[in-house]
Amino acid sequence: MSEGHTAGLSTVGNCTAPTSSLGTRLTSARLLVLAPHMDDETLGCGGTLGLHSDPSRVHCLFATDGSRSPAPLLPWAGRIDPELPTKRRTEAIAALSELGVNHDNLIFLDLPDGRLSRHQDTLTENLSETVRRLRPEVVLAPFRLDAHPDHVILNRIARKVLKTRPDQPAFAEYFVYHRMRLLPGGDIRRCLRPSSLVRIETAASATVKMRALMKYETQVTITQSWQDRPILTPESLRERCGAPEYFMFSDPGEGLLEPFPRRRARILVAYLAQRFGKRPKDRLLASLQWLGGRGRVR
Ligand SMILES: [Zn+2]
Repeated sequence: MSEGHTAGLSTVGNCTAPTSSLGTRLTSARLLVLAPHMDDETLGCGGTLGLHSDPSRVHCLFATDGSRSPAPLLPWAGRIDPELPTKRRTEAIAALSELGVNHDNLIFLDLPDGRLSRHQDTLTENLSETVRRLRPEVVLAPFRLDAHPDHVILNRIARKVLKTRPDQPAFAEYFVYHRMRLLPGGDIRRCLRPSSLVRIETAASATVKMRALMKYETQVTITQSWQDRPILTPESLRERCGAPEYFMFSDPGEGLLEPFPRRRARILVAYLAQRFGKRPKDRLLASLQWLGGRGRVR
């Protein structure tokens, strides 16, 4: 996660009831959670992991070293803490421990944060080996049309690896980001095949999810002098812990837009606009803010 928010929706479409067999699998099966960055697993699945009947059956693979969050939007506005990879690994171990997942069940690939697209072969190799070794019953990855490029790459590689497995595990996508402003309702989850979407009521594990997220000190507090707010604000933490979690099950061999029964062209345009338009806009606003600040100093 680098930044983002959660809509406080309590229901999305006519999704599958939480007592469905797919929902039950998420809280009992042997799981492999793929997280691009330390905290994505807890943001997207923490409530569900907190409900798991046997957390010793939960494994989590962190793809990147987390070395770029927090990072200033403007490179000249401040430095990145060189200790971030060590700190974030320690935070992840503590967060997963809150959710009952042992340190031995965590895998850290330490690929460069923000640069997964340049390491797809290594990622594919490691993911194939991990799936072969752990034989998960369900693999969870960030949603395919996520706003962050590392999330999108991890999803793509997961689908590529899983579709060639003879013992194909179930594949579920979790949501770190789901807001898409150009879509009706502003929530991409509303556009998915209702039969693929599973809602997990996580009220019973909201407290443990919050406790786990609070272990991510580099994300929930201001740790750098150039930050004016933490990556995860108290408001966004409350929203994330107060809302149910959603998962989309799909066949890893399906095309990118197949889970969307309607409006595919519009969804693609909305996604591309958000993915490639947000960062330049944020940089422009940060530049104006920075220049304004300099003006005041003078
Ligand atoms: Zn992330």
